Amino acid sequence: MKVLVVNCGSSSVKYMLFEMDSEKKVAWGLIECIGLPQAFYKRQTINAEEKKEAVKVINHTEAVELIIKELLDKKVGSIVGIEEIAVVGHRIVHGGDRFSKSVLVTEEVKEDLKDCFSIAPLHTPAHYDGILAVEKMLPAIPSVLVFDTAFHQTMPDYAYMYALPYEFYEKNHIRKYGFHGTSHNYVSQRAAAMLGKPIDELNLITAHLGNGSSIAAIEKGKVIDTSMGFTPLQGVMMGTRCGDIDPAIVAYLLDEYPQYKDGSTLSDLMNKKSGLAGISGIAGDMRAIIQASDEGNKRAVLAFEMLTYSIKKYISTYYGILNGVDGLVFTAGIGENSAPAREAVCKNLSALGIEIDAARNGECSSKERFISVKDSKVKIMIIPTNEELMIARESRKVLIQATNVL
Ligand code: ADP
Repeated sequence: MKVLVVNCGSSSVKYMLFEMDSEKKVAWGLIECIGLPQAFYKRQTINAEEKKEAVKVINHTEAVELIIKELLDKKVGSIVGIEEIAVVGHRIVHGGDRFSKSVLVTEEVKEDLKDCFSIAPLHTPAHYDGILAVEKMLPAIPSVLVFDTAFHQTMPDYAYMYALPYEFYEKNHIRKYGFHGTSHNYVSQRAAAMLGKPIDELNLITAHLGNGSSIAAIEKGKVIDTSMGFTPLQGVMMGTRCGDIDPAIVAYLLDEYPQYKDGSTLSDLMNKKSGLAGISGIAGDMRAIIQASDEGNKRAVLAFEMLTYSIKKYISTYYGILNGVDGLVFTAGIGENSAPAREAVCKNLSALGIEIDAARNGECSSKERFISVKDSKVKIMIIPTNEELMIARESRKVLIQATNVL
């Protein structure tokens, strides 16, 4: 069975085609800058080198059309007929409180997704366009929606509510949702496999540390808290996002600075100009921060220390609310690749039974592995995330369930 995973952004379509028997990707790529003169198409298959070229695509439908044509291409294609694709899995950033698990696309589901537009206006309309484009190009093939927020829907109300007047929850659905759920779900399942125990016998903390970062507290396979909130701005300090700040600062900036009179300018400041970039004045990229720190740049050192400290605070808190932890997982760009960041996060956590092994942590590898000392009560793991594979697995599962019901 083959599953096509698509991820539609406002001006991009990324895709990955999986052969599910082996769970191997057979073709993947992206079209970026849709609707702009600099639009390009980059793709690769298991049997061919990467190709990149300028293309003219004005909308998502044209982008999906181009991708399907390429997949069917007699010379370089990966399928002979579109019926080889059993299901298309769409990555959806925000499912609000309407979607707590992956769903098969129906007319009703599409209507409900439209209700989520206001909650994630940058992402959801693009996802919706992508769903329509796929339906147009592949009318006979079912689609499944897999939500970044869904894995976190098990949080109890006292964890997801904000202490604002209750009507904002009722009317505006203002609550914590959490993000990167597909990644937290994938790495927690892999952690259970590495620990050789069923997931429902484990307490885990998963740290997805990329440009955007979030931490999740997972009790017996269910998220009980996570660091991102109503939007991905909340939580730990990130590449360009400030993470947790005193909310009164927002009111102060609105009052003091005329240029921040509208919410979107302020949101831009907190999402794009803060975090590592804002503190260091250099960049939001961890590699640049580490390099500048090594060269003695004091603000880069401060940025690194603030970011790793904020992660450590969440890990310590989640250790407490989980009442003990079996495994701590590092994943995504920083989590998988930055030994100094992992070391700083785990430093002085031995009281919690979190003890990193410096040599194992320093090893260069792209494989799943343990990096704690042998006797560490909490096993520390690096697990490369694979959100696309998780979406493919979810899509296959939903398709099989739906087929059995029909
Ligand atoms: P995104 O959230 O955009 O998916 P990624 O998961 O790709 O981000 O993570 C990007 C972050 O990972 C950047 O801060 C980058 O500097 C960092 N990173 C990637 N490789 C390394 C490395 N070898 N050492 C340190 N940081 C790294």
